[in-house]
This record gives sequence, C-alpha cells and structure tokens, in this order.
Amino acid sequence: MASQSPRSPIDPVKLDKLAEVAIKVGLQLQKGQDLVLTAPVAALPLVRRIAEHAYKAGAGLVQPIFSDEEITLSRYRNAPEASFDRAPGWLYEGMARAFAGNAARLAIAGDNPMLLANEDPEKVARANRANSMAYKPALEKITSFDINWNIVSYPSTSWAKQVFPDDEEDIAVERLAEAIFSASRVDVADPIAAWREHNANLKARYTWLNENNFYALHYTGPGTDLTVGLADGHKWKGGASEAKNGITCNPNIPTEEVFTTPHAQRVDGYVRATKPLAHQGTLIRDIEMRFEGGRAVEVKASSGGQVLNKVLDTDEGARRLGEVALVPHSSPISKSGLLFFNTLFDENAASHIAMGQCYADCFEGGKSLSPEQIAAQGGNRSLIHIDWMIGSAEIDIDGVHADGSRVAVMRKGEWA
Ligand code: ZN
Ligand code: ZN
Repeated sequence: MASQSPRSPIDPVKLDKLAEVAIKVGLQLQKGQDLVLTAPVAALPLVRRIAEHAYKAGAGLVQPIFSDEEITLSRYRNAPEASFDRAPGWLYEGMARAFAGNAARLAIAGDNPMLLANEDPEKVARANRANSMAYKPALEKITSFDINWNIVSYPSTSWAKQVFPDDEEDIAVERLAEAIFSASRVDVADPIAAWREHNANLKARYTWLNENNFYALHYTGPGTDLTVGLADGHKWKGGASEAKNGITCNPNIPTEEVFTTPHAQRVDGYVRATKPLAHQGTLIRDIEMRFEGGRAVEVKASSGGQVLNKVLDTDEGARRLGEVALVPHSSPISKSGLLFFNTLFDENAASHIAMGQCYADCFEGGKSLSPEQIAAQGGNRSLIHIDWMIGSAEIDIDGVHADGSRVAVMRKGEWA
C-alpha cells in the first residue's frame, strides 16, 4: 500500500493564488524581466509557486536567496565577536547591480518575528546596524522606487506558533495561513479583480487628501493630542504605484493604508500607542511620546522602553517622523483582532506613524528630487524606519489648512 503524504495545513489553491497575485498584482512582472527573490527556507513551497508564475509571465531569470532561522541563531551562539559588525556587502552590491539592470524584487516574510528575543541585544543591534549600512545600495533602489517590488508573507510554523501559542502546530499554521490569505485578498473567486477594486478605493481616498493639501493633521483621543505637520509638497499615496521603470506595482500585500511624508520639524504634542509594537524580538507595550519641534523629546513604554530608546539613538533622524499613514478601524486586518508581530500586517490594522526614514516618492515630483531637496521640504532621513500604531475607534483626526481652517478626516477611527 502506498503511504499517504501528510496533508499540509496550508490550502494549496489559495497558496497558488497568493503566488499569482504576487507576480501579476504585486510586481506586474514584465516579459523578460529578471526577479531577485529573498525568502526563509521555510517558505520554499510558496517560492516554487512564485517561480512558476514568474516564468509563465515571461521572467528571464528567477534567483532565490534563502535565509534560515537555525543558521541565524547559530551565528549568535557560535560566531566570533567580530562577526556582529559584518554583513554580506558583496551580496547587496550584487542585488543593487541586478536592480540597476531592471530586475524586480520580491521578498517573502515568514520568519519567527521573536527569533532573536533571547539573544544578546548588543549583538543584535550591532548586526542590524552593519546590515542596514551594507544593504544601503540595494535598499535605496527599492525605497526610491527604481524598480517594481513586492512583499508577501508565508505562514511558517515558527511564526504561526508566535501568533497562536495555545494551538497545536498544524492548527496554528492553518489559522495563520487563512489570516494571511484573507488579508491578502486571495480567498475570493477572482483575487485580481478584488485587488483592482481595492486599489481604486485607496486611490479615491488619497486623491481627496491630495486635493485638500492639508498643512497638518491633528489627532485627538485618549492620551493623544498631536499635531503632525505635513512636508512641503507632500503627496499621499496608497495601493498601487508606478516605479521609475514605468511598471505599476503593489509593493505591500496586504495593504490598507494611505500614507505621506510628515514635516520632520513640525510635529508637536503627545501621543499614545494603541497596539503593542513587535520590534526585532522585543514586544514594546504602551508607547507614549511627546514631540517638540518634530523631535520625540520624551519616550516611554511600559515594557521594552530601553530597546525602543536604544534604536531611537541610531542617528539624528531616528527621533523624528518619516511617515504618517491612515487606516480605518474597520480594515479587515483590524477586524481579525490578531497581533501578527509583523509590521506588514500590524501597521495595516491601524493608523500609524513611523520614526525615521521618509519615502522620497511621497513628494510632488519626488522621483527627481535630490536628498537635499527632500530634506529642505521637511523629509526626514535615518537608517531606521519603525511604524507604530496610534489609531483606534477612539481617535478623531482633523485636517488643518495653512490658514487654520479644519476639515474632519476621521471620526471614531473611520473616514469622516
Ligand atoms: Zn505605513
Ligand atoms: Zn512605514
């Protein structure tokens, strides 16, 4: 009797649809275009589906680059001291060269977000810093939108056990898989059409915000009275956007936000987090910040405050805002009520702000602005970009014009 292969808790049809959406919506991969793909080895089943859809769409060359949790941990436990100031710059230079040659970029997220929770925080910080610096040539081509890029997620076992610690492994994976499929809109008959409609809705929101061209947003709610100035010439974006290579892609799957660049010098007042923030293995709870002239001058948290303050000491821009994003409280990810420990999901559950680097593309004519021009218009610069959630059903947001007149943007967490 032939032995039956064990049933995977991940629905193969929805997994295949996720791969198809990554290629056709996320990247809009073009005939002849190469694809650089990074993924945890655990995500191999999705990588294989993606490669097939990529080649069927006419990809020239699909090159996966894998990471592995066991190998990452082995470094922290066995590598010499000097290892933690190093990073594979040669690999990132190669990726940058591929992007310069118009290769598309796809990242699969799926690692256990708490993987490094018990490792030496000093080593983690050093390794992250070395990696951020070495990754810069490649990352700049991504953040400045030289090429079409996309991130999707895979329900790896270690991540699933983090989100559903009380469930058996199989059940946890199945539940995380369904949550990912639903948030990524691939649990419907025609995911491509669903994404077309979703993109149109996001576009209607950001078009309205751009027409209003607010000078600032004013947030009020429990523990929050915050004015966030918007950068000069800022532009709201959301959903699909056109890369410099002319390809319109959906960089984040899922995505629920419309977002823009705040003014790095014009943020004042106090603000309280509405959800915990999972940052590189540390859960930071009940963040409270007070801003003066754009700078977070007081930073508190009921747990993880030390880690947070440390990362905010990374550089001059780390205590200033680089992004402001609006997400209605009724978004599907918010309704799931889950904490994913993954920014890609958690930031799409609530309105948020981000400490650190801004997006050049969130400016009028941003694609051709120099870093100096962006800074002059209020765009922030930093090695970090950390989103944290400040939206809830109790938050009201007004748009404030330069003459002081006000327009309701959100009431009780919903579009006004
Ligand atoms: Zn965001
Ligand atoms: Zn962000």
